[in-house]
Amino acid sequence: MTEQIKLAPCPFCEGPPCISAFDFVTNSPVAIDRPQTECFDECYSAHVWCHDCGAQGPDIDSCSLSTFEHIFDLTVLDVMRIAAERWNDRHAKARSLYDAGDNERLNLFPRNDEPEETA
Ligand SMILES: [Zn+2]
Repeated sequence: MTEQIKLAPCPFCEGPPCISAFDFVTNSPVAIDRPQTECFDECYSAHVWCHDCGAQGPDIDSCSLSTFEHIFDLTVLDVMRIAAERWNDRHAKARSLYDAGDNERLNLFPRNDEPEETA
């Protein structure tokens, strides 16, 4: 049996997480036990989402994983597992970018340099 991962609660509302997987080309939902083709040429995407508020974790797909992270031959279960790991991987690696933008008032909405919407 596959080792289980305990999903962290939603970072916004602490609600219960769900995980969904899709065919990368058609965007149709795929089952966790969908068999991969013999030459592993199907691509899947997956993400964790909050059942209560709808917040979504990082969208993971096997095409990007193979191209940018050199992770190959993934099944639906593999892609869902990586999505679960990324949902659980809470960190502040990009905080310096937020702070740099804050100094330039880029974290305000609307930004000062954006034109007012005209009705
Ligand atoms: Zn939530």
